[in-house]
Amino acid sequence: MKIKADLHNHPSGNFKKVVETCRKNLGVGGTLGYVNYADMDLYSKFLKGRDRDIRDFGNGFYSFKDYVTILRGQEIPVICSDGKMGEIVVFGLENNLECHLSLKETLRISLENGGINYIPHPFLSDSIGEELKMDLDLLEYFDALEIYNSQAGLFDGLGFLDVNQKAQRFYELVGRDYMIGGISSTDRGGIGKSYSLIDGLDLGCMDSVKESLKESLSRHKDCFEDEQVALRGKALMHVGKVIACDNIGAKIPGVNGLLKKFELVH
Ligand SMILES: [Zn+2]
Repeated sequence: MKIKADLHNHPSGNFKKVVETCRKNLGVGGTLGYVNYADMDLYSKFLKGRDRDIRDFGNGFYSFKDYVTILRGQEIPVICSDGKMGEIVVFGLENNLECHLSLKETLRISLENGGINYIPHPFLSDSIGEELKMDLDLLEYFDALEIYNSQAGLFDGLGFLDVNQKAQRFYELVGRDYMIGGISSTDRGGIGKSYSLIDGLDLGCMDSVKESLKESLSRHKDCFEDEQVALRGKALMHVGKVIACDNIGAKIPGVNGLLKKFELVH
């Protein structure tokens, strides 16, 4: 069964509100990444308000009441080789990693601890896209590349940033063989406005959830094939192997960017 995964999100609201919104907007089996920013641990505070109907894995939990999975994540500021700041997102860890280490050191520590490494908005400011362009071998450390970010999408079509289009072109250049293109809503309160369709997770134990997520991500390396695209008012629904964008926050320029991308593929 395919599930909706909105991995890069910084939800606002208490436990009940977030879990219920997750169920409402992502449906049964929906998976949300609850991403801490830097060394803040909003996830722990959020979890204090939990109800009894969850199975807590330490690095995420499953709600028996709403049939959704929430994964703990952290968006980590890192230092790139030119001394500028960048960011990566890591899932699957129970504790925050240290911030402001070098990109390579952070990746190494994350992998040593079993983290799933995700590249957020690679061409927004303070991101690692330019670093990756210079050193493509770094991509081997990652499981997913975000090719659509609804906050970044607000800039798309303005001509001078076009950050999502850049991410999609970069993905097309480097990503197909070993990386999915992820889509995330990222905005607070935007749970499920955009998401990736991935295979359902195996909730037998958390290690297998991590493996399951990794496997599910890697299975979608050919995600730009077999798309069907339909426009519904402002929302773009991409009913394909992986990418679905039903993003009312996308604004028309972002949607046009995605459509252009699909035209290129066809
Ligand atoms: Zn973020």
